Amino acid sequence: MADTIRKAHAPTRMCVICRSKHAKGELLRYVCPSAGNNDTALVFDEKQVLPGRGYYICSNPECAQRLARFKVRRK
Ligand SMILES: [Zn+2]
Repeated sequence: MADTIRKAHAPTRMCVICRSKHAKGELLRYVCPSAGNNDTALVFDEKQVLPGRGYYICSNPECAQRLARFKVRRK
């Protein structure tokens, strides 16, 4: 038997600030503000249910600080 079946594991997401990978449940999710909103600050998605492009941030305080200056790029 080929040993190609991987063990099921928790989905991981990459912190957009430090680019380290973490289990999805350990990350904080933010989303882009809705269209028409000129504010470029990300919106904290506490329940991880908001629609739109999600950004995941790890629990590192440094990442939280840098997130405050993180701007969504828009055309
Ligand atoms: Zn991070």
